[in-house]
Amino acid sequence: MGVSSDKNEDTNGEIFFLNTNFEIDINNLYDENSWYSSLKNRDEEIEGIKSLIIEEFNIIMENTKKSLNDYNKNEKFDLSLTFLKDMHFVACTSNSEIKLSEGLIIHYYNFFKGFLKAHHNSYDFDDGIVEMIPIKFILYHEIGHVVHGHIKLLENRKSNNEAISTLDQKSLEYDADAFALSRIFDEYNGVIKNSIDNCNNSEEFKKGFELMLLVLIFEKVILGIVIAFFIIRKPDDFNKFDTKKHPPTFYREVLAIESLKSLLASKINVQKIFADCELTLTKYVGYDDSIMQKFVADILDNIVHVDDIIKNWNERVKYEVKKYSRFPVEGIDFVFEDGKPVLKGTF
Ligand SMILES: [Zn+2]
Repeated sequence: MGVSSDKNEDTNGEIFFLNTNFEIDINNLYDENSWYSSLKNRDEEIEGIKSLIIEEFNIIMENTKKSLNDYNKNEKFDLSLTFLKDMHFVACTSNSEIKLSEGLIIHYYNFFKGFLKAHHNSYDFDDGIVEMIPIKFILYHEIGHVVHGHIKLLENRKSNNEAISTLDQKSLEYDADAFALSRIFDEYNGVIKNSIDNCNNSEEFKKGFELMLLVLIFEKVILGIVIAFFIIRKPDDFNKFDTKKHPPTFYREVLAIESLKSLLASKINVQKIFADCELTLTKYVGYDDSIMQKFVADILDNIVHVDDIIKNWNERVKYEVKKYSRFPVEGIDFVFEDGKPVLKGTF
């Protein structure tokens, strides 16, 4: 989800995202050898998970194509999906292809499923619709880089010899995350709406039912997002902020909270659910309290950078994205009012 510079030069112009450089080992989460050895002799299971992911990707692509806007029609949109046995990135994207790291993506899937199972009492909405959330988030994030024209923007900057600052890169990552969240929100909101529409009870009952579904489903959505960030989180996330291409995962979480807050309005307490998920997850992997305290202290020390990313997006980057985006751009084409996108008069 970060745009890696080292790999750009030797991949025929392909742009790599989410380069994770697993140099830190926390409970073996980032230990490439232990991951691959744990997957040995499990070919059938791996193929099964891969076909689930391909199925998910096809649905996501179909949904995205349906929602494409008339803007920038000459920017074609079609992507294929391939798996690589390479642990140096989670996902990377060009204008024609998304590549996923087989080892990491299967780890994501198993980690989330294992976590849901371990917390079966509190996470018992077990009909298969939530297991894919972290992977859905990654896929939508990568698709967002394409349909919002980020790749085109970077290519154009490059061909004009214009610099791409790491702050600009971070603003693009912020936008890709926001895109992924809004697509996931739309998808599950559709599931909830269908259930309510098919319900013949009183309006009052429907209201209560809707709230219950919102909490049940979005708790897991938020958990999936927290896990998506958690797996690539590193204790040195906050160091060298200026030179890194993607925001530290905690910032991305703070930004995701803000995005989900505008999508869910005041219906559920997004911030509290994020905090609870973070805490449960910390216990699940047996994190020492001190690791968490250090993260929190680092966030507070550096929180100003979150504003920098948003400010840079709002003041400059969104206008450049608008030139290439196949979707409406928030703040230009529409704004959120009380959880609903309201179109502005620019088109
Ligand atoms: Zn990205």
